[in-house]
Amino acid sequence: ELFGNADIAMYDSKRDGRLVTVFGSEHNRTDSADMLIAQSFKKAFSNRELFVLYQPQLDLEQKTVVGVEALVRWQHPTLGLLPPSKFIPIAEKSAHIETLTLQVLETALLQARNWFVRGINLPVAVNLSASLLNREGLTQKIGEVINRIGVPPGELCLEVTETGIMSSPESAGRVLQELYELGVTISIDDFGTGYSSLKYLRNFPIGEIKIDQLFITDLLGNPRDELIVESVLALGRAFDVRVFAEGVETMDVANRLLELGCKYAQGYYFGKPMTADELEALIN
Ligand code: C2E
Ligand code: CA
Ligand code: CA
Repeated sequence: ELFGNADIAMYDSKRDGRLVTVFGSEHNRTDSADMLIAQSFKKAFSNRELFVLYQPQLDLEQKTVVGVEALVRWQHPTLGLLPPSKFIPIAEKSAHIETLTLQVLETALLQARNWFVRGINLPVAVNLSASLLNREGLTQKIGEVINRIGVPPGELCLEVTETGIMSSPESAGRVLQELYELGVTISIDDFGTGYSSLKYLRNFPIGEIKIDQLFITDLLGNPRDELIVESVLALGRAFDVRVFAEGVETMDVANRLLELGCKYAQGYYFGKPMTADELEALIN
């Protein structure tokens, strides 16, 4: 129990970027649903209760789908359909996050290969939890999945949040460099909500930035959001990094983004996360 509690405090420290976290009463408030979720991961993996939906990523100029983001869901036997916000943070507090990530990666790459061999060019983006960036052997495991499934590594993009990189910058930097050498594209997710964003652009092999939906969804009413978007676009150009806008919910926002020079976007306006079949119907 002592080691377990120490682990929980350690993960909180990493997540929040604090050097010291004292395990206390707030850590004990895990309600029973959370406990149940924590206990049912193993079954979820063996019973294949997790599944993946794909959200289209658009080229606004060409009006074409240029990729998809894989987003996990859990059809839980007693709790019903769970969104990632309900179980990812719990998985991140244990080793389950690694199994989960590798399972999502495998599913997404099998789908990518299926598309690839049929001549449909749809690279997939998979979310890489921050807590994995300091795991031993992560790159080898990811490389093993890519090789086993046999997709060109360029078909895979790994999304990492700023906060994630910050929690252990040295090992994160090493892992990102290794992943880059595998041929995978690295994307900074939720850009603008963490800190020291600029440091990553300077030090790490970043191929893509995703501007957080916070700055996008209400773009039209907020001149300051526009300024932020324009600044990030300028950064993207300077560093030769593709910039995506996340959380585009209306045609007006999509049009405004294009006027501002933002070429790539993702959001409910173009499509919510959907099954692979639905996605194919969308692009045909
Ligand atoms: P994220 O990586 O920032 O993913 C984008 C989230 O925004 C998705 O929520 C997506 O459904 C939602 N979204 C997309 N377009 C719009 C829009 O126009 N408006 C609004 N309001 N929302 C939009 P989702 O699928 O619930 O995922 C939430 C978060 O859970 C993700 O945020 C990601 O951090 C995490 N997540 C999802 N799948 C995985 C996974 O396989 N592994 C890990 N580690 N994390 C995952
Ligand atoms: Ca993401
Ligand atoms: Ca995001």
